[in-house]
Amino acid sequence: MKYLCIALLLIAGSAVAQKKKSDPKAQQEIIKSLDADFDKYSGIAHQIWEFAEVGYQEVKSSALLQETLKQAGFKVEAGVAGIPTAFVATYGSGKPVIGILGEFDALPGVSQDATPELKQVPGRPAGHACGHHLFGTASSAAAIAVKNWMATNKIQGTIRFYGTPAEEGGSGKVYMVREGLFKDVDVVFHWHPGAQNNAGARSSLANKSGKFRFTGIASHAAAAPERGRSALDGVEAMNDMVNMMREHVSSETRIHYVITRGGEAPNVVPAFAEVYYYVRHPKRDMVKEVWERVTRAAQGAALGTDTKVDWEITGGVYDLLPNEALARVVDTNLRLVGGYTYSDSEKVFAEKIQKTFTNAPALASTNEISEFKILPGAGFGSTDVGDVSWVVPTAGLSTATWVPGTAAHSWQAVAAGGTSIGHKGMLMAAKTLALSIVDVINNPVLIENAWKEFRTATGANFKYEALIGDRPPALNYRE
Ligand SMILES: [Zn+2]
Ligand SMILES: [Zn+2]
Repeated sequence: MKYLCIALLLIAGSAVAQKKKSDPKAQQEIIKSLDADFDKYSGIAHQIWEFAEVGYQEVKSSALLQETLKQAGFKVEAGVAGIPTAFVATYGSGKPVIGILGEFDALPGVSQDATPELKQVPGRPAGHACGHHLFGTASSAAAIAVKNWMATNKIQGTIRFYGTPAEEGGSGKVYMVREGLFKDVDVVFHWHPGAQNNAGARSSLANKSGKFRFTGIASHAAAAPERGRSALDGVEAMNDMVNMMREHVSSETRIHYVITRGGEAPNVVPAFAEVYYYVRHPKRDMVKEVWERVTRAAQGAALGTDTKVDWEITGGVYDLLPNEALARVVDTNLRLVGGYTYSDSEKVFAEKIQKTFTNAPALASTNEISEFKILPGAGFGSTDVGDVSWVVPTAGLSTATWVPGTAAHSWQAVAAGGTSIGHKGMLMAAKTLALSIVDVINNPVLIENAWKEFRTATGANFKYEALIGDRPPALNYRE
């Protein structure tokens, strides 16, 4: 970042070539303020990393971000869309209205200390294996930096930070979209922790998930088996049918399940069993179709095992709709911000982490920005940012908050996210988001271009309908 001044000059030059107004004074103000607050935001991110609260239980994490934004002069509305940990923090008034997303939920089952070797933390069953502690903090930092710039320079417009819980399987944003909270927003920015610096865009898989609950009759498994009906048999029969079905779905389909309740003791015929399913596909219509077939397998299984079944949809997200016009704004600013290098101790940590990989890219890649690409097809993940992207033009980036080669949802991701490596990547993201917001506020044509592309992509007749239907938020899906 010491080359910033040179970079600023270069970007100022190239921006003229693109007939876009770049604002070096604003850029310097934003970058200076975020650098100055680096320790503060690292501390906040680390607290959320330690809280490690799972979906819809992020009480302390949400409160900390709310408090941070309140102290900075934002007006906070908490408990929106029927979700106690969801909130909207607003600064300013009138147009443009710029949205910025912040996640903060952890993942169950990935307890890990900030060490380069596998080490669980007693009393902490979850971990930030997707880096959402950095996500929420960097987005808050960006919102606050932009707010300060607006206040100092009397800039017109609204910054709206969306505190979005339960991204991991809880579809938190879907309820917020369904509630109409994005209705008057011009553009939305987001980001995601990662193992490289990249502002290219790609779609993601639409996803529907739910829990199938089978009820049978308990009995002594040896003395009176004929009087029992096994709920676990229902689950197993359903899984068998779905596993056969895999041969007869399109190859991009992804179906996964875990048995969340399978009985308590082998000598008691289980009266209750539960299986938790995900169905994914690049196209949400195909997700709906395969989901219907899965529910028929459940009904068939219940019929054949003389049990009863019902199910609850717990999540459902759209495929992500990339917006190239907006993504290019983010890419320009990511290149302006640039990457970062490791200190000696970070390098030692990263080398140890990389020893646990079979193949790892060079550590120096934290200082590089990937080539800008809008890739065809969908990456093999899902996000509830998808729903946001179908109601308002949306773009984001990922930065190297993890050691190069790290996979999301791994212990190595939790580990790096608890160190200064994660914080340095987070700072890059905060700066890039803030600078991108400054650009769209200064250049309304960027918003117009994003909307032109958005309208063409969604089509004139598109009407948003949540895959979760009209169910209330599944606040207990992690219980
Ligand atoms: Zn994740
Ligand atoms: Zn994530």
